[in-house]
Amino acid sequence: MSHESVLREEWFARLEEFDRQIAEAVAADGCRHCGGPLHQGNYERKPRGGQIAEAGEAFRLRHSLCCGREGCRKRSLPPSLRFLGRRVYLEAVVLFESVRAMALETLRQARRTTGVPARTLRRWHRWWTQAFPISAAWTELRARFVPPPPAESELPRSLLEQAKAVFGADAELFDALLLCARWLSPVTTQSVPDGSRFVVATFRS
Ligand SMILES: [Zn+2]
Repeated sequence: MSHESVLREEWFARLEEFDRQIAEAVAADGCRHCGGPLHQGNYERKPRGGQIAEAGEAFRLRHSLCCGREGCRKRSLPPSLRFLGRRVYLEAVVLFESVRAMALETLRQARRTTGVPARTLRRWHRWWTQAFPISAAWTELRARFVPPPPAESELPRSLLEQAKAVFGADAELFDALLLCARWLSPVTTQSVPDGSRFVVATFRS
């Protein structure tokens, strides 16, 4: 594992701060069901960082919001740059190790190289190639790229390559992964279906 492909604590601290701001933006909007006030209902997760993101395991707080109005109490889970749905591994790991696995001949090689169990790698592969391409978030994201968008058949490698291309020849992995996290943020939650607008607003301010 080369030195530059290990994600540092500062990087996760930045992502955590963005997650906090995104949660704030969602909270400011109020409950989508009843218009009631959204209160913090954050909880702790136990994320796995694998080989590249061990530093990220210390950042456990999942920002979460809960409607304060009696009779509603619905949860709004803000988009996140760190957690990809309920997956135990951090999103950066799911992305980066899926890309590494794609370059290897066999699942056994992939398991040995990434340290991620073969069944997990298989599940991720299915998600990238079957569930993600038909998600509303991908349809929306795809339309935002200056054509051509990342090749669907090459996900997630094509997505990471596209992010690297934004930064040009000197692209650093962590910059590209942060950009991918922004792109992917709408798929990290189902309870805030228009999540991308909060993320876009956060990065604009
Ligand atoms: Zn409500």
